[in-house]
Amino acid sequence: MTAYVWDYLPEYEQEREELLEAVDTVFSSGQLVLGPSVDGFEREFADYHGLAHCTGVDNGTNAVRLGLHAVGVGPGDEVITVSNTAAPTVVAIDGVGATPVFVDIREEDYLIDIDQVAAAITPRTKALLPVHLYGQCVDMGAINDLAERHGLAVLEDCAQAHGARHHGKLAGTMGRAAAFSFYPTKVLGAYGDGGAVVTDDEAVDASLRRLRYYGMEKTYYVVETPGYNSRLDAVQAEILRRKLTRLDTYVEGRRAVARRYEEGLGDLAEKGLLLPSVNEGNEHVYYVYVARHPRRDEIIEALKGYGITLNISYPWPVHTMSGFAKLGYGEGSLPVTERLAKEIFSLPMYPSLPIELQEKVISAVREVVLSF
Ligand SMILES: *Cc1c(COP(=O)(O)O)cnc(C)c1O
Repeated sequence: MTAYVWDYLPEYEQEREELLEAVDTVFSSGQLVLGPSVDGFEREFADYHGLAHCTGVDNGTNAVRLGLHAVGVGPGDEVITVSNTAAPTVVAIDGVGATPVFVDIREEDYLIDIDQVAAAITPRTKALLPVHLYGQCVDMGAINDLAERHGLAVLEDCAQAHGARHHGKLAGTMGRAAAFSFYPTKVLGAYGDGGAVVTDDEAVDASLRRLRYYGMEKTYYVVETPGYNSRLDAVQAEILRRKLTRLDTYVEGRRAVARRYEEGLGDLAEKGLLLPSVNEGNEHVYYVYVARHPRRDEIIEALKGYGITLNISYPWPVHTMSGFAKLGYGEGSLPVTERLAKEIFSLPMYPSLPIELQEKVISAVREVVLSF
């Protein structure tokens, strides 16, 4: 049995009947676009967060993009974020015509180094876009203090942090608005693409609803400001309604895998293997389980021989990608981000990861790291 970093088939086997029933619910409903399934999911996802509003959209990238647009970010504005993230965070900033401004990350938790944010603020800065990377929340108290002092909007990128908490508060409830992805690998994953933006701000939500629907007020069929076609698909919404009832169970499953890795590999710190650390007040959901070792490439290569394929999240910091060379960040401009990109790697992580595979991963990593 090969171990992959992610696989949905064991879950599909367990949930198949219910998922197919969700598909049939939509196909039999007489309404294939928006309608009761999307409305229902939006209400339930907002309720899960204790927020007033949720707008379903077609994917996480557009959740960030429409979220930025709805909180007032546009051409000429600057948005502060990190380069150690999934490229779509940055693609979305570019998509509204704004300029991404990168701040380095911290060695300890791979999250935005908040001490460096103030120096990155200029008169053109419009918003902060903290990314709750790998499933652990950014220190939102510090982010919100800065935002308030400088009059900036805060959009949380929660694509990796469904169900994560920071001092008891759920990811997605701490900014002006928050963008989620339901890409299949995510902690709450659809069986295809999906996304959502949650907010307590009625005006922001009203704007999101127009933006995902060509820019129209649905009842008037008139475009005032041109938007996009970015609706959440009804079939995915109905599937997500079923899966949302199990979100906390999925998170528990991920934490159980993380505990097993910690027990099996924690003593290898003296051999240079660093496992994820959890900041005080944070409840991690382990979207990916990111370890670190100076001989990362050799570990990945050796594990292939054991039938274990590992991933790197992410091997190329966004500022080093050719598509973002225009931003002018040279090599060495974000030293911690660049150094970590050469040392991090992800162990298999999903709630239905069979225990035999977890044990196989642990013993293989032990053998390889101890052989150095
Ligand atoms: C997955 C992801 C996105 C984009 O989501 P899609 O649904 O794939 O468009 C955005 N930001 C982060 C941090 C992500 O991990």
